[in-house]
Amino acid sequence: MQKLQSFKARTGEPLGAPLMACTPEQVDAAAEAAAQAFVSWSASNGATRAALLRGLAAALESDREDLVALADEETALGPVRLNGELDRTAFQLRRFADIAERGVPFAFTDDPAVPGAPPVGHPAMVRQRVPLGPVAMFSASNFPFAFSVLGGDTASALAAGCPVVVKAHSGHLVLSNRVAGLIPRVLKSQGLPAGLISMIQGSGTDVGVRLIRHPAIAAGAFTGSTRGGAALQAEANGRPRPIPFYGELGSTNPVVALPAILATKGAELAATLAGSIAQGCGQFCTSPGVIVLIDSPQDKATNDAFVQQLTTALSAQNPHAMLTPGMRQAFDAGVVHMTAAGAHPLVKEAGNAEAPRPFLAQVNAVSFIAKSALREELFGPSSLIVRAESVAEALDVLQAVGGSLTVTLWGAETESNDTRALARGAMNIAGRVLFAGVPTGVAVTAAQQHGGPWPSSTQPMTTSVGDAALDRFLRPVCLQDAPAWLLARQGQPC
Ligand code: NAP
Repeated sequence: MQKLQSFKARTGEPLGAPLMACTPEQVDAAAEAAAQAFVSWSASNGATRAALLRGLAAALESDREDLVALADEETALGPVRLNGELDRTAFQLRRFADIAERGVPFAFTDDPAVPGAPPVGHPAMVRQRVPLGPVAMFSASNFPFAFSVLGGDTASALAAGCPVVVKAHSGHLVLSNRVAGLIPRVLKSQGLPAGLISMIQGSGTDVGVRLIRHPAIAAGAFTGSTRGGAALQAEANGRPRPIPFYGELGSTNPVVALPAILATKGAELAATLAGSIAQGCGQFCTSPGVIVLIDSPQDKATNDAFVQQLTTALSAQNPHAMLTPGMRQAFDAGVVHMTAAGAHPLVKEAGNAEAPRPFLAQVNAVSFIAKSALREELFGPSSLIVRAESVAEALDVLQAVGGSLTVTLWGAETESNDTRALARGAMNIAGRVLFAGVPTGVAVTAAQQHGGPWPSSTQPMTTSVGDAALDRFLRPVCLQDAPAWLLARQGQPC
């Protein structure tokens, strides 16, 4: 059996004793237990689902001190961020509890019979939704709580009526085991089957692929790299019975800053942007990785001043250690790769063994559009300034990005042909368009959209954050001329 060793993110020392990777039989057993649990869980009511989600939130909070200390050792994300993330995770669990209790998963459309010939006349029809089945959930590296064992995917799947098998992320295995260890007590105290939420561990290409291929699995939920997500999506599609795969992948999150706002608020915006680029050592899927400036002749000096302000502000940032040595190596290699592709470095200092230094580079729009290497996400504290010569060229830059979780548009307060075109261009490629602030920080709300066209997501019509994340795990069913006893259930499972 393969041994798995976790490490302290700051020092690289081993953390805890080696853990055992799951055997194929253990992966199969988790999927089969989830299928068993699906029978009763899919028929559960909102109150039952809410009680479980609230019980999980309380369990997480009751162990806060130890969990945060452990997470900090394993990820180096720091207690402030990790306490905030644990709060958010409990909030998400309780929010989906409220959603289940309000009956959202059971909402239905009643379409009474219309007498007469079609197309006007039709039978009585009710459209409602049913849960998909067991979900294979792949934890994120960079959100050890909020997108991991008891994170948003797990909360929304459970609220929808779906059991969950979590594939733990190798970057925080000890923490994942610790969080998973809280679950059986909550399930038992509520008389729920142990297979309703379980966790497996081991390499993605081994246990992860076995899990997504298992016939009992009905959907995949994933947060991670474009490469890993694409590989697992191919597995989901290649099954004898293909299943939906909801992957949140890589994103460059362009910020388009119009000159007028830079002329008045350049220093303030540069400081805010530098903080966002370096936040969490840049290990955010919404980190601003591309900054587009529009250099009409009269604005070039303003833009040059902003570049200088950003260079100074970013140089002053001190990112902490990255989550894993692999991510650090990927970041260092990415800096070399981007420089070799023609990006002119503005901030490029050698980091030390513990932490990287920020990286800022500049390139013109023509090169950015021509070279795909410049458009790849560089996961870490980095950003690339792209100098466009006109609004039309800035729109071409957005089009070349193709798909992003976010686009930020600074300075579009007044309606004009340019601001309309930029807003439209941003909406064409992004799931969320911001007109103020920075893209890091994703609120858990009703209107949130965290997903976008490829390569930011495999399913651009869905979101992995916010209330609508529930919809990923529910399938519409139309009941035609249904008997009275079934209609009386008003969308509740039978
Ligand atoms: P990753 O390398 O894709 O790993 C995520 C999970 O997928 C891990 O469990 C990994 O297993 C598994 N996996 C990776 N490649 C696989 C393959 N070929 N076949 C089967 N399973 C595979 O992601 P990461 O470690 O988080 O790397 C960071 C990247 O994720 C960045 O590019 C970042 O932008 C992106 N990200 C995106 C979001 C978002 O919301 N869009 C959020 C966070 C991160 P192992 O245990 O074997 O590694």
